[in-house]
Amino acid sequence: MLHRTDLRSTGLPGPAALRAALPRAEVDVDAVLHQVRPIVDAVRERGVDAVLEFAERFDRVRPSAVRVPAQTLQGALAALDPAVREALETSIERARKVHADQRRSDITTQVVPGGTVTERFVPVRRVGLYAPGGLAVYPSSVVMNVVPAQAAGVESLVVVSPPQAEHGGLPHPTILAAAALLGVDEVWAVGGAQAVALLAYGGTDTDGAELEPVDMATGPGNIYLTAAKRLLRGLIGIDSEAGPTEIAVLADHTADPVHVAADLISQAEHDPNAASVLVTTSPELADAVDAELERQIPQTKHVERIRTALGGRQSGTILVADLDDGVDVVDAYAAEHLEIQTEDARAVALRVRNAGAIFIGPWAPVSLGDYCAGSNHVLPTGGCARHSGGLSVQTFLRGVHLVEYTEDALRDVAGQVVTLAAAEDLPAHGAAVTARFAK
Ligand code: NAD
Repeated sequence: MLHRTDLRSTGLPGPAALRAALPRAEVDVDAVLHQVRPIVDAVRERGVDAVLEFAERFDRVRPSAVRVPAQTLQGALAALDPAVREALETSIERARKVHADQRRSDITTQVVPGGTVTERFVPVRRVGLYAPGGLAVYPSSVVMNVVPAQAAGVESLVVVSPPQAEHGGLPHPTILAAAALLGVDEVWAVGGAQAVALLAYGGTDTDGAELEPVDMATGPGNIYLTAAKRLLRGLIGIDSEAGPTEIAVLADHTADPVHVAADLISQAEHDPNAASVLVTTSPELADAVDAELERQIPQTKHVERIRTALGGRQSGTILVADLDDGVDVVDAYAAEHLEIQTEDARAVALRVRNAGAIFIGPWAPVSLGDYCAGSNHVLPTGGCARHSGGLSVQTFLRGVHLVEYTEDALRDVAGQVVTLAAAEDLPAHGAAVTARFAK
């Protein structure tokens, strides 16, 4: 049932042609910029009034206020199903372990006697964290955004998530409960492009509560949210432009088709635009996976969404001659999530350069990473794993250089500074050094 591309006999084309030959969702963020720019402008000009209008239009509900009261957060936590609470606690505890280990110490380098440069890692002061809530709600994304920000030492955190018509204009109760469980007390019911704009510009709520602008906004979302991030980047920092989610599975004849099909389906469940790609050396496995998809899909809940995602041009099977070609293909694809289901899977994984996260062997499905592995699930999509990593403590830290030189150390290098300044025709730069030794 997956579209099939056979690269066994032709061999792999060059990198650019290979990338073009691979299935990929065509997410044209530029194409929605003209829809999103007026949303961003309206929020800049009219603040919360505009936010409420967009909620009515896109979320089919007009909240009475945008900020969620603290007692509502605590109420959502108290009402949370104990099993869900326990699972969220496991997710938080494991993520905290991994992210605590990502913290960096300041590094001082003695460049010359009397001259040092220290790199201090300073957290961004205030961040806005987006938890999606359109087709599905993602309390797990609250965990994956908040945990690294808290571990980085971010002082001020606000979570935003779309208002839900069926919950009286509040974000989904499990999102609220997850925020409360993490110790977040500031949550605003706003989604999509208007959420990023409100985070960037700030605003005053209907009851006078102030939303202070943030320095940075992170979190996954749909194309409208992504377009707003693109427009507002610079005014605020962003993590990345996370697009529709994707999985690639690199598998050989040893892979279990039941597992492979289940994992491809689990990713397709997110979104009709989600991508599920199988790269395999084994045509028999490809056939068995197709048969398994036909068997498993009718047993799942979101059949239509899954069929659309798996049948779309962004999904497919790629047959390769051997695992060397398989590694080249997954490198060219640069998947958000990559599973390696082969003999000696760890060794194969270590040969992969480009992936958001790699899930090794039969016991590490992507769903584990979505919730409870300890790893972060906010990962680069659309090939961005070629140049970017997932959300981490580092996302929220900036390296600030502290430069300390003694008089002697500056005198020693003054000549070189003057020479380079003259070479750039910026003599005042040189003069700023020589003036110190004029007396
Ligand atoms: P969302 O919260 O991103 O979007 C909902 C919002 O979109 C609404 O509040 C609404 O304001 C806005 N919107 C809807 N239609 C609009 C229109 N026509 N014009 C302007 N704005 C409009 O939720 P979603 O839609 O379910 O998307 C979530 C996305 O996040 C999915 O693609 C999912 O795969 C992805 N995701 C990615 C990761 C990751 O780590 N990369 C993790 C979780 C989810």
